[in-house]
Amino acid sequence: MGTHIYKVKGMHCASCATIITKKLSQMPNVNSVNVNFASEKAKIEHDEHETPLSKLNSEIEKVGYTLEPNESNPQDIHRNHAKTSDSELLSLRNKTHFILPVTLAIFALMIWDILARITSWMPNLPISMQLFNTFSMVIASISLFWVGKRYLEGVSRFLRYGIANMDTLIGIGTLFAYTYSILITLFPPIASLLNAPEFTYFDVTIVVIGFITFGKYLEANSKKRTGAAIEKLLGLQAKTAIILRDGKEVEIPQTEVMRGDLVVIKPGSKIPVDGVVTEGHSYIDESMISGEPIPVEKKAGDSVVAGTINTTGSFVFEATKVGSETLLSHIIKMVEEAQGSKAPIEALADKISARFVPVVLVVAFLSLILWLTVGTSYLGFSSALSFGILSFVSVLVIACPCALGLATPTAIIVGVGKGAQNGILVKDAATLEKLHKVDTVVVDKTGTITVGKPTLVDMINKGSLSDTEMIQILASMEAKSEHPIAHAITAKARELKIDLLEVSNFEVIQGKGVSAEISGKKYFAGSPTFAKDLTLSIDEREIAKFTSEGKTPVVLMNEREVLGEVFVSDTLKSESKVAIAGLHKLGIKVVMLTGDDERAAQYIAGQVGIDEVIAHVLPADKLAKIKSLQEQGRIVAMAGDGVNDAPALAQADVGIAMGTGTDVAIESAGITLLHGDISKLVKAIRLSKLTMRGIKQNLFWAFAYNVVGIPLAAGAFYPIFGLLLNPIFAGFAMAMSSVSVVTNSLRIKTKKI
Ligand code: ADP
Ligand code: MG
Repeated sequence: MGTHIYKVKGMHCASCATIITKKLSQMPNVNSVNVNFASEKAKIEHDEHETPLSKLNSEIEKVGYTLEPNESNPQDIHRNHAKTSDSELLSLRNKTHFILPVTLAIFALMIWDILARITSWMPNLPISMQLFNTFSMVIASISLFWVGKRYLEGVSRFLRYGIANMDTLIGIGTLFAYTYSILITLFPPIASLLNAPEFTYFDVTIVVIGFITFGKYLEANSKKRTGAAIEKLLGLQAKTAIILRDGKEVEIPQTEVMRGDLVVIKPGSKIPVDGVVTEGHSYIDESMISGEPIPVEKKAGDSVVAGTINTTGSFVFEATKVGSETLLSHIIKMVEEAQGSKAPIEALADKISARFVPVVLVVAFLSLILWLTVGTSYLGFSSALSFGILSFVSVLVIACPCALGLATPTAIIVGVGKGAQNGILVKDAATLEKLHKVDTVVVDKTGTITVGKPTLVDMINKGSLSDTEMIQILASMEAKSEHPIAHAITAKARELKIDLLEVSNFEVIQGKGVSAEISGKKYFAGSPTFAKDLTLSIDEREIAKFTSEGKTPVVLMNEREVLGEVFVSDTLKSESKVAIAGLHKLGIKVVMLTGDDERAAQYIAGQVGIDEVIAHVLPADKLAKIKSLQEQGRIVAMAGDGVNDAPALAQADVGIAMGTGTDVAIESAGITLLHGDISKLVKAIRLSKLTMRGIKQNLFWAFAYNVVGIPLAAGAFYPIFGLLLNPIFAGFAMAMSSVSVVTNSLRIKTKKI
């Protein structure tokens, strides 16, 4: 079993996605199927040996769809994208160029005809009805059999397999109007037999297909723009790279760069793969990945990521991540998956679309029958027949829940894409949906509010050791730890050129400190709590002087006594204060959770305006704290570095990882903020609110339109208001509803977050 993403061809409507899902789910060795109409992708978990792609295809090709591999190599995706969408768009454009002028001409003639009949000032049409009819018949045939071919295919699929989608509805409607018109035109006796007026409905066929085709064309065009974020990300990929081979510069395709290659970057060129600078110096524009507008300085030892652009310097870097391992590839994959995922809010729309088509068919036939029976007794047969035909076609045309199917996914695609362009990576649609309800944000102190690179700023020596010895022992132990505090201490030793000692039996006591043996003696280093655990007494008053200034104490101890303390201090991130203020403006409470000393944490919290501090929390207890907040009915987002916070991130309603540089814990969190920028959290929440508002507007209009449109089309308002919807207007409304939904989703793109 493996999960695969395929590109789906041949989908025209949201109910196509339902049909494919149903067909594939029934197959053996297929576990789960998720088809997204808006992104035209299918995520299928299946056994690729027992039921390979070809077998899946043999099942759905019968009903008019094809699955194609969606290569994970970004360049291949690029090619596929361009090819399929262009050929479909091109065909739609050609059809539109033919049908739209004709539709508008006929539309104008019809309005003329109506005005001529009801007003005295409008002269009659200057062409004979005979000529108009013949002309209409020819155009209607072209419309139905060429422009509207896929609607006829929808009808034939319905007849052969009993599968109906929106194409079927439009197909039945237009074919019915066309066939009736052909019969009474070519066989006038039939008209008199039916006692029907010699009214034809060729214009209905032409105009309905015309407007819908035009609408589909606009929709396809806009849909292409909703996916522009991916295209843009793909466009960031460099095509070639210059690498050093035996000291000489050679230009090779980007895909052939190997890990360990030395890559030469000239002024103004794109970084082809991820790596670490080995020599040279420059500033790099990383705005396309992180949304950060100011170029970032890079010197030896700094990491660079694929897709970013060098400014004026030049340098050499060693490739560390190539091909699909680069951050850019991860981002592209993540954005693609998120755009294709389903938001919970969509479930209702899906359920409705799935039942819609058969219900609409029944409503259409019922309205025809009612007109012919009840209508005939009031209006006489010939009027009732023509009203019945109009209602039948109108209902089929207006009922298409295309707008309903587009409402959520188009907004999600735009929202996720906009996030990616701002350095906000969203894992799936459900996360984006949940984020707008968050009322409490829990943040980690180190690395989230502060830079996470503390320095050693003070020390207290109890006298048993020299200052140098104290730092030597501490640094020797901490050299084995990954904690930011440990880095502060080892950096100090390096600065003072103190050699490190041999260490054995090193141990980490989570959230408290470390212990180890140095030349046979046991030492401990860690928080004051750790000292208490070891039943050693500490001078709390003395320590408080430092912690009240936000400094974190590290107590050095042996088994009998406290040898002294060092204090590390971390700088606040410049954006922390603004970020917290931004969260407050959104009505969100901010809680800081830290394993650090209470006073030091309070000091930091006071500096940035955090509402509540929970200090002395062991990593294992962070999860319980999140749970207790949730039990108070709060919807919690937790932002952390994702290293020892993973369980808490998972427990939170929305887990937010602060990505630093190239190392992004993409999979563990619902949302990743690139470059560890907490102020992006405010943007992420605003984006979520914006997207959800767009979805709700879309859903409301799409529902409202069907709720009002169907009875109007069926003629339910005729007896009361004398209102009956001409199929031509039904076609127009139907086309416009989809277009307006997609346009509304696109508006999310232009809003400021
Ligand atoms: P946070 O992520 O909030 O900084 P941690 O759980 O990582 O919290 O650490 C909690 C406390 O434990 C630190 O403030 C520090 O006092 C102590 N501590 C943890 N690791 C070390 C270490 N390697 N050296 C010294 N003290 C440590
Ligand atoms: Mg931590």
